[in-house]
Amino acid sequence: MKTPSVHEMHFLKEKIDQLKEQGVYRKLPELQGPSGALSVINGKEVINLSSNNYLGFANHPRLKKAAIEAVEKYGAGAGAVRTIIGTMDIHNQMESILAEFKREEAVIVFQSGLTCNSGTIPAVMEDGDLIISDELNHASIIDGCRLSKAKTVRFKHSDMDDLERVLKENCHKYRNRLIITDGVFSMDGDIAKLPDIVELAEKYECMTYVDDAHASGVLGESGRGTVDHFGLHGRVDFTIGTLSKAIGVMGGYVAGTRVLIDWLKHRGRPFLFSTAHPPAVVGAVIEAIKMLMESTQYTDRLWDNARYFKAKLEALGFNTGKSETPITPVIIGEEAKAMKFSDRLFEEGVFAQGIAYPTVPRGTARVRTIVTAEHTREQLDRAAEAFKKVGEEMKIL
Ligand SMILES: *Cc1c(COP(=O)(O)O)cnc(C)c1O
Repeated sequence: MKTPSVHEMHFLKEKIDQLKEQGVYRKLPELQGPSGALSVINGKEVINLSSNNYLGFANHPRLKKAAIEAVEKYGAGAGAVRTIIGTMDIHNQMESILAEFKREEAVIVFQSGLTCNSGTIPAVMEDGDLIISDELNHASIIDGCRLSKAKTVRFKHSDMDDLERVLKENCHKYRNRLIITDGVFSMDGDIAKLPDIVELAEKYECMTYVDDAHASGVLGESGRGTVDHFGLHGRVDFTIGTLSKAIGVMGGYVAGTRVLIDWLKHRGRPFLFSTAHPPAVVGAVIEAIKMLMESTQYTDRLWDNARYFKAKLEALGFNTGKSETPITPVIIGEEAKAMKFSDRLFEEGVFAQGIAYPTVPRGTARVRTIVTAEHTREQLDRAAEAFKKVGEEMKIL
């Protein structure tokens, strides 16, 4: 029988062809083995500078052992959503240890950092409320704002004058007001000006919300996040963390007051309508947080490596923008050139993904590097050599 044309989805084929014409159609690179400082990617062993596995926890023996033990004791799946009968004692333990670690009253865990944002913002902000959002905030914050009935106004990235202008013009017209920012911005590696944001929030009677996806396990004492980094405990109302990046596993959490967490357990839609984490994830997360509470050795090593590699790239003469964290972009400018740079690095044994418009503004295409605690000095020296060689060859240096 002839396939009816409706099944052929011509409208999508046309869009995919457009992506190909624009040169932004990408094949996914494939890992053939664990994520590590050295990884086998597309059949080649390379130095991996593109994972978010900041602390090397994704393949850490202690996390793997804890995951296996949780599977043996609790099984492969949780069996239900948290609010029906998917909450195991280990889920509650995970939330308690996270609250202790974060030095906050309470924590609720969601399936991912993304679902934290898309679930929390619409659960607390409604018609008649105002959200004030940094223009470079993560896509999942934008989704959360769209799902809420509140009015959303953006301010220029980390521009405190513009933030105050927005507050002055709008606050008096709305009931509840919430300022949202990423803690660390993922494409430039800069840190939010949280002390200034908190001051302005208090002046204009707004709540504050920090998405610490790239700061969890990175900034603050043993990776407690930006609130801890700036000593702002008690002055930020919502702290979002991810368990998928530095913590090495999967999931996200909201840390805050008991009142807030209580409400989210009743109205956070991903918590109510999507199944709880499998035991392996929970076991590994608990172990990871224990490791961070026992010792700062993991974050110390991360920062040593990050400073070392950043200094090397800068000494070579690359433009690393305004990075203040282990995320170090090498800004090339032209889109095609950044992609070529990334491809040539791969041939030289380094994986550093090229990033172009629309993820970053036109004319600021880059390769982004993320050093981890697991990289050895020898690997970082070799990676810097590859950057030098390809940079000279392509006349970037
Ligand atoms: C990665 C990221 C998320 C999503 O976290 P997942 O746990 O991977 O879903 C949310 N917010 C920001 C700022 C991120 O960088």
